[in-house]
Amino acid sequence: MKKILTSKIILLSTIVIVCIALTVFYLPKAIAEISPLKEESDIRSIYLDSSGVNLPAELIAVIEKELQEKPNVFFEGENYMLTGVREEENWRFISIAVYIKNAYQNGAEVPFGETSSLIAKQQEDQSWVIALQYTQNYADLLKEVPDEYFSAKAKQMEIIFPNVYKEKYLKILDQLPEGYLSEESRKSLFEDQSTKNSISYKFPWNKNNSPWIYTQGWHDGNDPPNPNCHGDWCAIDVGTNHTDKNVLSAASGVVDNVCIGTISANVYVRNDDGVLMRYVHLGITDVDVQKGDIVDQGDILGRLKPGSFGGDNCSYGASQKFDFGHIHWVIPITENGSFIVDGWTIKQGDDTWTNGINIIDPPNGPIYSSNQSNLHLQNASYNSTEYFKANSITAGPSVTIQSPNGNVTFEADTYIRLDPGFTAQNGSSFHAKISQ
Ligand SMILES: [Zn+2]
Repeated sequence: MKKILTSKIILLSTIVIVCIALTVFYLPKAIAEISPLKEESDIRSIYLDSSGVNLPAELIAVIEKELQEKPNVFFEGENYMLTGVREEENWRFISIAVYIKNAYQNGAEVPFGETSSLIAKQQEDQSWVIALQYTQNYADLLKEVPDEYFSAKAKQMEIIFPNVYKEKYLKILDQLPEGYLSEESRKSLFEDQSTKNSISYKFPWNKNNSPWIYTQGWHDGNDPPNPNCHGDWCAIDVGTNHTDKNVLSAASGVVDNVCIGTISANVYVRNDDGVLMRYVHLGITDVDVQKGDIVDQGDILGRLKPGSFGGDNCSYGASQKFDFGHIHWVIPITENGSFIVDGWTIKQGDDTWTNGINIIDPPNGPIYSSNQSNLHLQNASYNSTEYFKANSITAGPSVTIQSPNGNVTFEADTYIRLDPGFTAQNGSSFHAKISQ
């Protein structure tokens, strides 16, 4: 009797459990079938500025929809601008920037988001399919792009993730929903870490024609600049007042992106060792490459934009007195913390460079200069009436240049002019040239 009762209880309990399980399993599905629309919170409110590019309205609408619906992980922010289009038959390769709306219009130097890209393909029925960079769809669509537009190498480089910013992208990968990127792609993303800086890098200018100098030490895009920066926008400023303002590719690779902003332009090159190198502050009409181009070391990417200008949707602004162009050169961090360019070891956060024999302390201030010539004043006379400025953030309130003519002390953040023929002695704190 007791045994029969126990069996009945077990049977009844089983039925109840099965019923609950069936309800839990089918009910949401049933509701979903009744309401196929996405929940309101899944559709983001975004702003898309497409005024700078020539694209059909139908395609812009598809892009807008994609940005509204995709998870906000690779494209942080809510305001987007299409910043360039490469047009090839039924294909469009489109650069896209995320920015803080209206901020750039005031010329303010403001933080902004990222520059990325998307591929659009017009199908036979005239409709458009698009894919955002760093998604599986993008990797899949890329395979369909004819090799004459994107070489096999360019395609391969395109699907390598920005391993420069490994930490950030690993975090993003964790947030990605299932199926957003295949397991295989996820695994392959950071495989080439050990090869970073494994190819030859040169300084990005023609040293025979145009002497460039180091105009500012490590900093990000904030105002005041943070010298202890790291990450996406941490860079050194190098530039020239010379007529040859060509910016050369520091290594071989593929043009990953070109951001033509409202004020200035940036070029991003994915080098053959996987490193993404950024060249910021080119002129908007001075970019010679487009997305997908293969570049060799020394190839011209474009030209510097001289002078001071505000930030825009592509980058922070550049503060330079006088007509002095520079690039904000984003050199990535390798796993051992340094990067070798033309025999010089450059360490992020450390303005001193060494080539194993010499040590240079390029900005030691940093010093801003409008002069194109040798500013590494060691027992050398200096014949110029141009101006210099030390930055108080790293130089302190004042800077002294030791010289047989008598020491010159000047306040940081104000421009000074040295007497023609000024001679500095060894050990002078006035070092600004990059020795090559
Ligand atoms: Zn800079």
